Amino acid sequence: MATIFDKIIAREIPADIVFEDEHVLAFRDIHPQAPVHVLFIPKHAVPTLNDLGAGDEAVVGRLAMAAAAYAKKEGFAENGYRVVMNCNRDGGQTVFHIHLHLLAGRAMHWPPG
Ligand code: 5GP
Repeated sequence: MATIFDKIIAREIPADIVFEDEHVLAFRDIHPQAPVHVLFIPKHAVPTLNDLGAGDEAVVGRLAMAAAAYAKKEGFAENGYRVVMNCNRDGGQTVFHIHLHLLAGRAMHWPPG
């Protein structure tokens, strides 16, 4: 089922896009939880982490590598950052197109809520 992220990929709704390549799109979260809050999504939609299958090994790897490259490019890799992937109800997932949250620009707390 199409989600709001498919509409962002298709440029049907606007987003503040910070990175794009053949497989990955990254844009600022509309409700940022840190000074830097960017979502990295695969262009090929997979609803949840549970739906990854054979042949999808690179999907999450590309998201993580794009996030790390962005952190280096923006100069906060040394200070650090957090990446989060929420899955289903108890994980707090609200958009069912897998995405990696990159949060930075402040010290993070542990454990997360
Ligand atoms: P989840 O809760 O599924 O892990 O994260 C979904 C994220 O998508 C939330 O942090 C939410 O603020 C963000 N989000 C939802 N709708 C939009 C939108 O239309 N544009 C942008 N840029 N972010 C969105």
